[in-house]
Amino acid sequence: MRVEWSNWLSAAKMLLAPAHPVCLFCGKAHAPSAQTPGICLACESAIPWIKAPRCRTCGRPVGCPDCSRSRQPGPLLYNRSAVSYTSEMREILGQYKYRGNERLAQVLGLMLDRAYNAMQEAMENGSVSRWSYTANQNAVLEADSGLIMGAASPHKIWSSLLPRKRTDRWQADLLVPVPVSSTRLAERGFNQAGQLAAVLAARRGILQLPLLVRTQHTAKQSFKSRAERLADMKHAFAASTDSALQGQFASLLRNSLDSGRPLRIVIVDDIYTTGSTLRACAEALIRQPGGSLEGKVEICSLTWARS
Ligand SMILES: [Zn+2]
Ligand SMILES: [Zn+2]
Repeated sequence: MRVEWSNWLSAAKMLLAPAHPVCLFCGKAHAPSAQTPGICLACESAIPWIKAPRCRTCGRPVGCPDCSRSRQPGPLLYNRSAVSYTSEMREILGQYKYRGNERLAQVLGLMLDRAYNAMQEAMENGSVSRWSYTANQNAVLEADSGLIMGAASPHKIWSSLLPRKRTDRWQADLLVPVPVSSTRLAERGFNQAGQLAAVLAARRGILQLPLLVRTQHTAKQSFKSRAERLADMKHAFAASTDSALQGQFASLLRNSLDSGRPLRIVIVDDIYTTGSTLRACAEALIRQPGGSLEGKVEICSLTWARS
């Protein structure tokens, strides 16, 4: 009798205890995280956040030979990522991208939003790159252990990277998702970069415009050499010729230039691997149908994971 009574008691306790929502990461009904709604406290505490990027160009948390090796000037100023691409994070991204668990978009978008905070802080305290101004006010990039990608028009671009007061928070003007090919879009049913950017756009009140298109389906990359892949990637993206989009973009650009600074564009993607996709996107954005935007825009990228 005694045993039955205690069983009954524990069953009653379970019924009366507040039910936890099912965590979107581990699938268990654990105490939820307040920081990242949708996942549990345990999963939240296991996220491999990139809190202090060692490489200030690509946002990597460890020493980075890539950025020091390929230091050609390019329009992509730097990248920041929310997390390290560990096997656990790869599994989560797989559930979202390939197994169609679209509810994860909101969680991953919120994680990206945390990286946006880090991006704001980096821009405000000038830790994006080490640089200084000479007496004649020309921006000079100091050799920063080889971690700067360089800028096409240093004076105009770097002048807006000046540290500013905390009251004047750095804010992006425009989010541009990395496009997927129409084949991938048909397979998957959504563009993950667009969905992540949408979460950020809604939280921060930043406009998102799908200004880029894929010009070719970059499949079977694995059969190609690194050089071939890079050459392919250079022409994989182009600025959209949609006139409504172009019109919106032109007025944003005009407003920004009228206020005396370049337009701040953040390219959004799920993952940064070699950076060649993001660099190709930045180059395609610079080459607008109306002419080059060199010196008129400041482009960086925000990705959910850094592999
Ligand atoms: Zn969990
Ligand atoms: Zn790097």
